[in-house]
This record gives sequence, structure tokens and C-alpha cells, in this order.
Amino acid sequence: MQVPQIMLPGDVAMPQLGYGVWQIADDEAETAVATAIETGYRHIDTASAYGNEKGVGLGLKKSGLPREDLFVVTKLWNDAQGYESTLAAFEESRTKLATEYVDLYLIHWPIPSKALFVDTWKACEKLLADGVVRAIGVSNFQPAHLETLAQETGTVPAVNQVESHPMFRDTEIDAYGAEHGIVTEAWSPLGQGGVLTDPTLTAIAAEHGRSVAQVVLRWHLDSGRVAIPKSVTPSRIAENIDLDFVLTSEQLAAIDWMNTGERIGPDPLFFGSDA
Ligand code: NAD
Repeated sequence: MQVPQIMLPGDVAMPQLGYGVWQIADDEAETAVATAIETGYRHIDTASAYGNEKGVGLGLKKSGLPREDLFVVTKLWNDAQGYESTLAAFEESRTKLATEYVDLYLIHWPIPSKALFVDTWKACEKLLADGVVRAIGVSNFQPAHLETLAQETGTVPAVNQVESHPMFRDTEIDAYGAEHGIVTEAWSPLGQGGVLTDPTLTAIAAEHGRSVAQVVLRWHLDSGRVAIPKSVTPSRIAENIDLDFVLTSEQLAAIDWMNTGERIGPDPLFFGSDA
């Protein structure tokens, strides 16, 4: 499949489907990332907290592709929030990834109780101005945190990476993003595998002769979200990028209706408060 691109500010093209590497060990990441790139992925999503940036960097190199053909995302971990500490943490990530620049740098969690995300964001703005990142964004930010950034800083996040799958979707975040030009990116797009036996999804998948994972990923793309499924199994890595089929508007609506409002991940209002 030709992966669609979403344009971010600064004429930065972001592949709408990427490869997530959370819970892939550092010494397995090289092979996993190289396999994903060989299969057709160009967008890799890691984070300093995943402890595998070095392996990801080796995988990028192993692919043999020119750096400009790849879209590399990493994230600032909670303990490094603050202006100077963000600049230092970015440098560490960049060194581990063995790359001159990162395509998209995200603040991993807002941690509102620490009240450091504005200073952290200002450091991200500096990284953008210095040209070592091509785009900056956030993860797990709620509309109130995005409003604070809008009032206290000059740059709108290009992307907000949040929990999103058929069982949980924050429609307020989707609406805020649509209004302010912030791309919503789905983490755990397959609900960590938990949605794969759902009867509604299984029936839709059968109608298309596709897998449930493919149906769910097609739904994310058709809803305008970026999705970053994770698997280390080569056949699933290939399946997850083979999305050349069309869901009907009724099928898309049926999946929208599955939202229970119950997260599988932590609540961003509180996560990291004790870190
Ligand atoms: P996911 O929704 O991608 O599901 C992964 C699980 O589904 C794995 O167990 C995998 O074996 C299984 N799976 C994948 N493809 C399959 C297929 N075709 N058929 C059957 N099973 C399949 O969950 P995830 O790993 O939590 O999320 C994906 C990525 O999102 C992560 O790797 C990470 O990059 C990102 N993420 C970000 C945050 C954040 O706070 N920003 C949090 C969680 C995850």
C-alpha cells in the first residue's frame, strides 16, 4: 500500500501509518525496525522511556535507506521535563539514535502537577528553531494543557499522540485538534490486541476478507488519525501495512459507536505525578 502522508507545519510530510516499538528490547529493535522498513514502513515511533533508541538507530542504518526517506519520532520522558533538562535529554536521544535530526519530537506526558510542560515546550521550540527537529508535538495532552500552551507560547503542537482505538477514543481531543490544526495520532491503535476478537469488528473483517487488525487500522486512517501499530512478527508487520481496501460509511460509523470511554492506559491528568 502507498501510505498516505499528512502535512505538518513547515512542509513536513508525516506518513500516516508508522511502526511503534514500545516493549521491543534494545537488542531486538535493530532487526524489528529493519524488517518494518523493508516491509514498507517509513515512520518509526520510539521514546527515550522505551530504552531502545540505540537499537532503533541501528535498525535505521541497517535498512540502507537514505535518512531523508525515513520519519523518526522520539519522546521526552517525564523526569527530564524543564528547559535545560529537555535540551540535554534531546541530545542524549539524538546520540543514541545516531541521527543528525529527529523528524518529530514529543513531550511524552503533560504531568500537570509538576507545571513544567510550558518550559519544556519552550525548549522544544528552541530545538525546532535550531533545525535539529523538523516538527514538535505532544503526547497525552488534554485540551486544557493545549490551551495553556496556546496562551503561553507561540507554537501550536503539530501532533498530539493519545490513546485511541475502537474501545476508547477521546472525541474532545479529536475535535480540539481538528479546530486548531493538531494532528491526532493513535497510540495502542489496536487496543494492545484487546479489540481483535470483538464480534462487530470480526463481522466487518469477514465482509472484506481482511483481518480485524486491518479493519481497525483502515478506520484510523479514514478518520484522519495517524496510527502506529506494534508487532515483532513479520507476517503481522506486513498485514498491518496492507490496507488497500475501502470501509463503507456505515462500517466506519459502527466502529465509532464502539467507544466505551474506558482507557486501557493511565489517565493523563494524573500520570507521572509521583515521578
Ligand atoms: P497496539 O495497539 O499496537 O497492539 C500491539 C499488540 O497487538 C501486540 O501484542 C501485537 O502482538 C498485537 N498485534 C499487532 N498486530 C497484530 C495483528 N495484525 N494481528 C494480531 N495481533 C496483532 O499496542 P501498543 O504497542 O501499546 O501501541 C503501539 C505503539 O504506540 C507503541 O509501540 C508505542 O510506539 C506507542 N505508544 C505510545 C504511548 C504514549 O504514551 N505516547 C503509549 C503506548 C503506546
